[in-house]
Amino acid sequence: MSETIDPSGASPRDELRSVLEEKRSELLSRIEQFGASPTEMSNLNFGKRIGDGTTYAVERMTGAYQARTLYETVKEIDQALARLDAGAYGLCEVCGGPIPGERLRAIPWAALCVPCSGSLVRAGARR
Ligand SMILES: [Zn+2]
Repeated sequence: MSETIDPSGASPRDELRSVLEEKRSELLSRIEQFGASPTEMSNLNFGKRIGDGTTYAVERMTGAYQARTLYETVKEIDQALARLDAGAYGLCEVCGGPIPGERLRAIPWAALCVPCSGSLVRAGARR
């Protein structure tokens, strides 16, 4: 991995990187508050469908579930940082098209454009 030094000072890329890294460490400290380690998070299994008689299990899991959701965002941020390094930041991972700046401002680690993220939600991964 090569680091290009920009003599003009902080480039938008550096700024973006620090925004992402700041968010990442904020999320990690919130995950710690749930008392869960990232390793545990990746082992958690939410295979059962929510809705039929599993409410109590879900309630018990809420803290872990929230921690896992946060951890998923951490992973998305990691991927965004990798795309930043690769010069592919801001491009949709599915169709390769540009992600609108408006969306990136709302979610700086967004990996998909709006239509692709919408069809992914419809295809499964119901929340
Ligand atoms: Zn797309």
